[in-house]
Amino acid sequence: MTTPEPTDLIILSSRILYGEELKETAGFVAVSDGRIVLVGRAEAAEEWTALAKHVVDVGDATVCPGLIDAHIHPIAGADIARGLDLNGITELDAVRAALVKHAASTGHTVGSEWLFAWGLDPIIFGEASFNNSLFDGILDDELVFITLFDGHAALVSDAALNLAGITGAEELPSTGYVGVDQLGKPNGMLYEMAAQDLVRSILPQRSFEQRVDELEKLLRSMAESGLVAGHMLDFGVPETIEVLEALELRGDLGIRLRISPWLMPGATDEDLRAMLAMQGRHGRRWHVHGIKLMMDGTIDNGTAWLFEPDTHGESLHPLWHDPEALAAAMRFFHEHRIPTTTHAIGDKAVSFVARTIGDLPKNGTVHRIEHIESIPDSVLEEIIHAGATTSLQPTHCTLYSRADHTDNWSRRLGTERANHAWRTRDLRDAGAVVALGSDWPIAPFDPRAIIASAQTRRPAGRPDVPPVQLQQALSARSALEGYTSQYWRSVGEEGGIVEEGARADLTVVGHNPLTTEPDEFAQTPVILTVVDGKVVVDNRLALATRIVHLR
Ligand SMILES: [Zn+2]
Repeated sequence: MTTPEPTDLIILSSRILYGEELKETAGFVAVSDGRIVLVGRAEAAEEWTALAKHVVDVGDATVCPGLIDAHIHPIAGADIARGLDLNGITELDAVRAALVKHAASTGHTVGSEWLFAWGLDPIIFGEASFNNSLFDGILDDELVFITLFDGHAALVSDAALNLAGITGAEELPSTGYVGVDQLGKPNGMLYEMAAQDLVRSILPQRSFEQRVDELEKLLRSMAESGLVAGHMLDFGVPETIEVLEALELRGDLGIRLRISPWLMPGATDEDLRAMLAMQGRHGRRWHVHGIKLMMDGTIDNGTAWLFEPDTHGESLHPLWHDPEALAAAMRFFHEHRIPTTTHAIGDKAVSFVARTIGDLPKNGTVHRIEHIESIPDSVLEEIIHAGATTSLQPTHCTLYSRADHTDNWSRRLGTERANHAWRTRDLRDAGAVVALGSDWPIAPFDPRAIIASAQTRRPAGRPDVPPVQLQQALSARSALEGYTSQYWRSVGEEGGIVEEGARADLTVVGHNPLTTEPDEFAQTPVILTVVDGKVVVDNRLALATRIVHLR
């Protein structure tokens, strides 16, 4: 029996998911200095609460390890999530109608002030080629910039092309291209960052204060959804550190951020050393650790790296003109014991990255592969053999692909490869670490809906939608672990477990994620979010549960 001692915080609950086994336990979690001091039994609660500074009784709400999104872009994403949100609109006419309404309700001068939208699903183009003819007759002469849902392409108007001086004959510094029609005239599509930057570089910038405001609001809503932290996989946006520092002058960030800067394709030795020098920079709730690399683009845009071409004859090239240079960069960071995570979507990209990781001399540094959208068994074995960890986004599967293969992603891959979609279950069964996340703003960040979709392989709350490759569904436990202990293992650290000595990151939700039907869990209220032992979100009052304040 542990002797009661003074603590900063005690959370009382009849449902604590305790230890690695996530065993449902009644009692309390005692926290001091950001760590869990004790997970105690209900019988001892009275003695411990008497000595605590702050006591929170959550009744029968479930205390879970704190949820962490393994892949987010909270700062760079603000440049994408700009203007009208087109997420969830899948018909061309509906997109046109939304754009007309947005243009009418947004005070602006035609031809000199921009209209922005994001989240465009290419399914609206159907069998037709992607181009800006959907603006004809509704947004003539307007400066329009729309980011596609995957962030890897943009659709701009002719006025925007003219203003940026785009001819279609541009030579780009890394893989990417300006979409052109049969006559070689630019058609409004800009693929990958190198092409998007031709127009992004002339867009009006939001003010610094606006950016700080947006980040504050976003991190707050992430905490409200139950997240305690996120792995931010970029650092490319100017003044990223300044924005974080300005926000920390106002107060603590809503969630903790682990930041892995993004090494651009074609990076020089100097770039590598600069990225190394950034490691360890930190504020109170953010720190720079690790590196993000990009092996390929996306299936949707024909910029992934596949062994065999897609049905358009595309997706045959890596983003780095020389993939060996990416391997060399990974070796450089490995030698300095810096973990990396590499975007690899196509089978050839995943295979290349897995083999590169497998060839590194073992020194305890862990390397992760992001996305892994379609791989055959042979590549799955390469991942396991390499000891690479993985990070997948269940809602990229459930929101943007369809069981009947009528979507752009499946059509491009063809039946056999589309049937190898997001193999979360196969990876877990084979022993791989599988962290989960959203890649916000590519998909909504709410972890409850993503944990549900990981189990149902369809959008949360949509039993009418046929599941995509249901045999790849994760168990409730594996889905929760993807947001907790598997996340920590994916970056080579221990964590995500409610036990003595652990970091006091906790998410308290109305329903037990292990026993609640997934669609119901997607709607469960977040009662409490605790980051490093501090209560960041407390919805008990709003939810009319009991409150006990001592001292
Ligand atoms: Zn991303």
